[in-house]
Amino acid sequence: MSDEFIKTQDLKKSFDDGRIQALRGADLEIGKGEYVAIMGPSGCGKSTLMNMIGALDTPDSGSVVIEGQDLTQHKDLSNFRAEKVGYIFQLHNLIPSLTALENVQIPMFEIKLSGKERRERAGELLKSVGIEGLENSLPTKLSGGERQRVAVARALANNPEILIADEPTGALDSKSAGELLDLLHRIHEKTNNTIVMVTHDNH
Ligand code: ADP
Ligand code: MG
Repeated sequence: MSDEFIKTQDLKKSFDDGRIQALRGADLEIGKGEYVAIMGPSGCGKSTLMNMIGALDTPDSGSVVIEGQDLTQHKDLSNFRAEKVGYIFQLHNLIPSLTALENVQIPMFEIKLSGKERRERAGELLKSVGIEGLENSLPTKLSGGERQRVAVARALANNPEILIADEPTGALDSKSAGELLDLLHRIHEKTNNTIVMVTHDNH
């Protein structure tokens, strides 16, 4: 593919002084606006690869190029993450003492918005993921599926071009899992962002 948006070349990453080779030369090309699922057995290096693409971790060698920018040479990765990438993990990672509306605003503190703009945007995002009326609920008062949808809204907070989802349905029952995948599909159709998802769900 010539118009690759995300490209990794010969990515290597090991842990425990080289005893565990999580990535042994991973080459991957993903086009802009693609929705890609990555499947594979537990322990084969999927999360490690996602962490490299999402600029959460750096490789031992090889390169990760996103929109022509080599992340291994990038000066300000936290800024890159805040503006470009949204993350959805298997466990929602919401902050328990904050309401749904407050949780969704967290990534927005990295960009310039007034408090009012933040709250309004968070409210719209919650509405778009079907969490209307539960804005002021704490995570413990929400179902697993609802929490994960709040996590999706939070991932979308800064309108990221890339959504990284690492087993987002892994902790959900099959009905909630289906709803979450439908939601991601709708988001993709609407925003045409690039989604890279690790999943065990054949759906
Ligand atoms: P997957 O997501 O496909 O299940 P991972 O990328 O999480 O696989 O892990 C790949 C391998 O690297 C596994 O053997 C795992 O135990 C090991 N690993 C991952 N992260 C670390 C770490 N921070 N420290 C030590 N070993 C790790
Ligand atoms: Mg994993």
